[in-house]
Amino acid sequence: MERSVLATFHTPSSLRSGLLCRCPRCGEGKLYAGFLKLAKRCDRCDLDYGFADPADGPAFFVMTGVGILVIAIWAWAVIAHQPPLWVQFATVFPALLVGCLGTLRPVKAWLVAEQYIHKASEGGASSVSKTQ
Ligand SMILES: [Zn+2]
Repeated sequence: MERSVLATFHTPSSLRSGLLCRCPRCGEGKLYAGFLKLAKRCDRCDLDYGFADPADGPAFFVMTGVGILVIAIWAWAVIAHQPPLWVQFATVFPALLVGCLGTLRPVKAWLVAEQYIHKASEGGASSVSKTQ
């Protein structure tokens, strides 16, 4: 059943479906029902998004990546140009805010697509007992 459904769709790369915030199986359906709330299922291929649980992963990656980038640029600007303090406050905090909010959706969608492609799920005792 699953194999026949997969054969009918051209599954996009996880990066593409993540950047476009689309379904990881068909690449066309919307992934989100809100800003960060996932839809129940794909409106094109009917894929149930119940498997998707990236937890705090997207927030961690976004905060770390954007934080390092913005702070590196801020440190360079302070050393090179010595801007007044009000300019630093007026640029660094909005850059952090816009950077984090702007990348959170595609990063979460990318992690959901990676979960779908690699069939990742939470570990537990039942998964260990199946291998023995
Ligand atoms: Zn779909």
